[in-house]
Amino acid sequence: MKIAELFSRKTVFSYEVFPPKPSSPVDTIYNTLNELKDLSPDFISVTYGASGGKNNQETFKIASVIKSYGIESVAHLPCIGLTKSDVDEKLSELKKIGVENILALRGDIPQEGYVPGDFKYASELIEYIREHGDFDITAACYPEGHTESASKVADIQNLKKKVDCGANHLITQLFFDNDYFYSFKERCELAGINVPIEAGIMPVTNKKQIERMSSLCGATVPKKFAAMMEKYENNPTAMRDAGIAYATDQIVDLISQGVDGIHLYTMNNPYIARKIYEAVHNLI
Ligand code: FAD
Repeated sequence: MKIAELFSRKTVFSYEVFPPKPSSPVDTIYNTLNELKDLSPDFISVTYGASGGKNNQETFKIASVIKSYGIESVAHLPCIGLTKSDVDEKLSELKKIGVENILALRGDIPQEGYVPGDFKYASELIEYIREHGDFDITAACYPEGHTESASKVADIQNLKKKVDCGANHLITQLFFDNDYFYSFKERCELAGINVPIEAGIMPVTNKKQIERMSSLCGATVPKKFAAMMEKYENNPTAMRDAGIAYATDQIVDLISQGVDGIHLYTMNNPYIARKIYEAVHNLI
């Protein structure tokens, strides 16, 4: 099934997982999926490392296992460094394994440099997929603006291009202050971006990880979030529980204000996903 169909029926609740590092046992992801499948996922998406690497081969395999559980899956596909023939190959592989949904991305530019491929921006990949296959296409968006963008206006214009090229659903970068999401939604409406937008929520599990993530993606750390990390940084259980409470609070507010969907960045941690699901499932 193509996931765009879901949004007219309900508030979508989805999860994101990543393939385990080659150094980790591959079974960990299957244990995670086994637990997530009991948390009524509308779909589960699987990330794909743009800079290459062995665990990329796992992305499509994991997406296909998710399908075998009777759950819709979305395969992420960053185009940086890919040629058209690489993409043709990946599209036919996805078709063969029955994955109908793609999160089409550019990918982060590797610091060590890379060999440019046939696609400069995600919009070019989206257009190519639209012309060369029957896939539902999702794209990424940034409530606080993408880190490379000259301005929020330019960012929205580029986002509109992705939608005009064929993205029929968007998922946001993580954010810790819902007001950024609400003003982003207003900018989208003004720009005529009318596709469903899922809010990407990442529960904090440890201070270092969140500091790294937010400096990479430019997410603002609100005062009360910083205070929480400061207080519990040396108490992992308290940090985990506070992180679950903070993310739950964000989600309750988003659902109350009519969000199209919640995309939970699970960090492959089914305990946290379960706690959040249990707290909010009656609201969805
Ligand atoms: P684009 O939409 O191409 O935008 C990149 C930059 O170029 C932006 O600043 C944009 O404003 C600008 N731009 C776009 N079009 C134009 C144009 N025509 N002219 C001038 N400027 C333009 N990365 C991975 O490697 N693997 C993953 O699995 C992955 N999953 C993600 C999932 C989500 C939900 C999100 C939000 C991000 C994910 N990322 C992933 C990270 C993503 O690859 C990076 O944020 C990347 O830097 C931008 O990707 P994009 O698809 O948004 O790029």
